[in-house]
Amino acid sequence: MKKILQDLTAEELSALAEKMGEKKYRAEQLFHALMLGKKISEITTLPAAFKEALLDKFEDEPVKIIKTQTSSDGTEKYLFGLSDGGLVEGVFMRYKYGNTVCVSTQVGCRMGCAFCASTVGGLKRNLTSGEILSEVLTVNAIHGGDIKKREVTNIVLMGSGEPLDNYDAVVKFIRCVSSEGGINISPRNISLSTCGLVPQMYDFANEGLPVNLTVSLHAPDDETRARIMPAAKRYKISDILKACSYYFEKTGRRYIFEYSLIKGVNSDEEHAKKLIKLLSGRPCHVNLIRLNEVKETKLFAAEDKEARAFLKKLTDGGLSATLRRRLGSDIAGACGQLRAGYLDGDT
Ligand code: SAH
Repeated sequence: MKKILQDLTAEELSALAEKMGEKKYRAEQLFHALMLGKKISEITTLPAAFKEALLDKFEDEPVKIIKTQTSSDGTEKYLFGLSDGGLVEGVFMRYKYGNTVCVSTQVGCRMGCAFCASTVGGLKRNLTSGEILSEVLTVNAIHGGDIKKREVTNIVLMGSGEPLDNYDAVVKFIRCVSSEGGINISPRNISLSTCGLVPQMYDFANEGLPVNLTVSLHAPDDETRARIMPAAKRYKISDILKACSYYFEKTGRRYIFEYSLIKGVNSDEEHAKKLIKLLSGRPCHVNLIRLNEVKETKLFAAEDKEARAFLKKLTDGGLSATLRRRLGSDIAGACGQLRAGYLDGDT
């Protein structure tokens, strides 16, 4: 596999161009074109010899859209092909305040959550920072966005993979995507979701990046959580909550808990009561969603009525909570479903 040019920061590109005998402004032109989502071969501002020298070493298009599915609600889901044939997914969602892209950080995942399609075949490999960045740049470009007028305004690290299990690449990605002169999406408009890897949550708090932290909780007690999330055997909810408090202390940002409602597992009144007790008084929000059923698992979504009752219980109990619409559920919107279907030979 060739190297990935988008892995380099503006400064690193500058050093590279100098090493290749090019003037500084060539590095600036190159950086600008890459941030517009262009392939190396498409860049018209650079001399042919420089482009050829780059193409000898670097991938022309590290992330290609192989397939797009458009939902009736306007959500678009992409299957991205990587240069070694690896597959990941991304989603583009339109909201009133802007457009959000959901990106993947790993090919597959090794966290083993019982309800999630991304983890079915285990972890294949980490994405590099440049591959994650290319997911964003590609989606911005196909919607006609550029650097000044961005069509992607928000990013969620909620595609396949566990972002904190690919720590260095993810942090570099966040720094690159928010860098001035680049596409410059503020960390405040970026959300990172984790299944609760406690040591990395502390490290991430210390990075000084005001990213929104989301934790996949999915249960109010360790026993129930361990039934559906193997990571719960390593890290207790009480330790996750301590790490969340530290994150709040460091960044001043309230944190969010994801809670997917699964019939007969975590959606009873008892669970709601325990959740209220657990989270009362914390600067947090609870994002409920009914499980997106994945054919590889034997888990089912809580009924709509049950989900609404659960929400009411939480809000009556004083928690800040919302029940999310399942955007794109008609197009396999849940994590890893499109890739799993593709690998199975679905069209
Ligand atoms: N590894 C990270 C990012 C995962 S995806 C994490 O665990 O947070 C983002 C969210 O979707 C997580 O909260 C994850 O638990 C949830 N999720 C995965 N599969 C789902 C499904 N089938 N239905 C509902 N939510 C799901």
